[in-house]
Amino acid sequence: MTQRLSGRAALVTGGGAGIGRATALAFAREGARVCVADIDAAAAAATADEITAGGGEAFGLAADVRHGDQVSRMVAEAVARFGRLDIAFNNAGIEIETGPLVRSDDEIYQHLMDVNVKGVWLCMKHELAHMLDRPGGGAIINTASVAGLVGAPGRALYAASKHAVLGMTKSAAVENGRKGIRINAVCPGVIRTEMMARAVERRPDHEPLMAAMHPIGRVGEAEEIANAVVFLASDDAAFVLGHALTVDGGMTVI
Ligand code: NAD
Repeated sequence: MTQRLSGRAALVTGGGAGIGRATALAFAREGARVCVADIDAAAAAATADEITAGGGEAFGLAADVRHGDQVSRMVAEAVARFGRLDIAFNNAGIEIETGPLVRSDDEIYQHLMDVNVKGVWLCMKHELAHMLDRPGGGAIINTASVAGLVGAPGRALYAASKHAVLGMTKSAAVENGRKGIRINAVCPGVIRTEMMARAVERRPDHEPLMAAMHPIGRVGEAEEIANAVVFLASDDAAFVLGHALTVDGGMTVI
């Protein structure tokens, strides 16, 4: 079977767990070499080890996307190891349940915005600087959420951060479309990852509700988001630009 990302060099942030891990593995299965970055160095290394154990090429890297110097080093390291960077999946993100907006505070606001918004901004800025500096273009995919498309009661600041991801995605896509760089986003519904497990731990009674919110009758799996990201990264999506690809079991159609 043809590998859709053969010969490409890819970077995944938040690659130590959940959607990032599943996507790093999927990139490798499709023939890409993968730099797995995560704030958790051991988790990043574990994903990279899983790829190399399966015959792929990867390395793990500690990087906190909130800090420009670390993001700059991350991109430089990927380019140094692979000689290029063709694909970037800016996926690292956090969710903090704030409750009603009236009770949210400065500290939570700052933390969410630093990881989810500043992190994606810094990643795109440094990745684009490299991609624009050499022929061949590239593909960037940012992880937003269904909370980037519709409101999320009790999670207003998370929703604000994911709406911001889509605003940056669309703006940067238009700025760079003619330069051969396609920038898109993926908007997952509720996906079975450690993030979801933490939410269930806080409110065990919500687990059946999470499934019921999706007309398909269940929550999603990380691999189902990975498949969408592989599509957006590949030439199959050559005419897809500035798009927010919803992968949510129908959650946002009702
Ligand atoms: P997860 O918590 O399972 O994994 C997130 C990974 O990101 C972890 O390995 C963590 O160490 C890493 N990370 C956290 N902060 C970081 C930082 N500052 N710098 C670098 N790495 C950092 O989460 P997940 O469910 O896989 O979520 C991944 C992305 O998908 C997030 O952006 C999240 O908002 C989004 N998302 C998740 C769901 C869901 O239901 N799971 C739904 C919609 C969107």
